Amino acid sequence: MDYRSHFESAIEALHAERRYRVFADLERIAGRFPTALWRHEGQAREITVWCSNDYLGMGQHPDVIGAMTATATGMGSGAGGTRNISGTSHPLVELEAELADLHGKEAALVFTSGFVSNEASISTIAKLLPDCLILSDELNHASMIEGVRKAGCRKQVFRHNDLAHLEELLKAADPARPKLVVFESVYSMDGDVAPIAEICDLAERYNAMTYIDEVHAVGMYGARGGGISERDGVADRLDVIEGTLAKAFGVLGGYIAGSRALVDAVRSYAPGFIFTTALPPALAAAATASIRHLKRSGIERAGQQRQAARTKREFASADLPVMPSDTHIVPILVGDADLCKKASDRLLEVHGIYIQPINYPTVPRGTERLRVTPTPLHDDALIDTLKAALVETWEAVGIPFASQRPVRAGRRDHAPALVMAKAGG
Ligand SMILES: *Cc1c(COP(=O)(O)O)cnc(C)c1O
Repeated sequence: MDYRSHFESAIEALHAERRYRVFADLERIAGRFPTALWRHEGQAREITVWCSNDYLGMGQHPDVIGAMTATATGMGSGAGGTRNISGTSHPLVELEAELADLHGKEAALVFTSGFVSNEASISTIAKLLPDCLILSDELNHASMIEGVRKAGCRKQVFRHNDLAHLEELLKAADPARPKLVVFESVYSMDGDVAPIAEICDLAERYNAMTYIDEVHAVGMYGARGGGISERDGVADRLDVIEGTLAKAFGVLGGYIAGSRALVDAVRSYAPGFIFTTALPPALAAAATASIRHLKRSGIERAGQQRQAARTKREFASADLPVMPSDTHIVPILVGDADLCKKASDRLLEVHGIYIQPINYPTVPRGTERLRVTPTPLHDDALIDTLKAALVETWEAVGIPFASQRPVRAGRRDHAPALVMAKAGG
């Protein structure tokens, strides 16, 4: 048995499809975000990062770094074990109280990542319900899909944000059967938003539970950063709100918030929570500092919305095929894996701009894109520089501009429509 050849041919297949992934060797510079050092072929070069999920630059906030370093100095580096064995560090107790308050829920539970929180929580909640039926949005994140898979129960996938399809499935199911609707608020590759209130209406009508992933919204939407569910005033109608501490909050970890009984049940039954070492106290304290700051301060949120809107406007004015988005996420359609990779390489090598190509399976084939995430720290001059670099790259690599593509009717049909001047936040 030639084991090695199996791994080599697996990698070869990715190369052949032009979707082998290379990660840039980067060094973020605290205080100078979005500038970073790129190490390449023995040299270090300053570049601008345009695809970070440190959406508000909180990863370099003095309060956050201060809480992290002070806590590490006082309490050491690691958590010292699983919570079952070693107890819960006090900063983690505080963090969970902060998160419960953020979402107006009775309780919250922190996991080592958002991925783990989805996988562990969805599977455990569904397993605790007898013969549960999971209804899952077709564009749900891989971590939710893993949770659904691990639940081992029956699942039905509804078309993306399609209320009529969801209702059809709910109506067809046995009224007595437990049902769990799992979906996201902000879908991070298209930047569109779920009709949360209407999904809650359906869940109430058909007696289903709701589980929402607010990973790309917490910290960024709502008066206190409680996400789209806070902005839309529907947090109290959702059974479980899941989020991350690693994106807008700039640290690491994931969580769920919900009723005391549900959170206690996940704490008590989920292997992905029980059998892994807790988040270190320094990370918990840093996350708490970040959440507290964003509960009080709206400057970062306003700055992000302003710069995202400006980025969309500037791209549209340059005939770049910016895809419609209702949020801070600005995808630009390339539509080909090879061209997408070439554009990304050229932006980095020629222009010192880092935007990771987004290819299948993260997005459907034919919708390969560059996903730009403006933050409050991407100022107007950086946006102008990016626009010029993209136009040069589009021409050099040979990617169609917006006016060179057929404009399609309808949105969200997986062959993204183009908008020329949609500049809303
Ligand atoms: C990134 C992401 C996660 C996972 O969160 P991490 O904290 O990075 O593990 C979960 N859901 C969605 C939609 C994501 O984009």
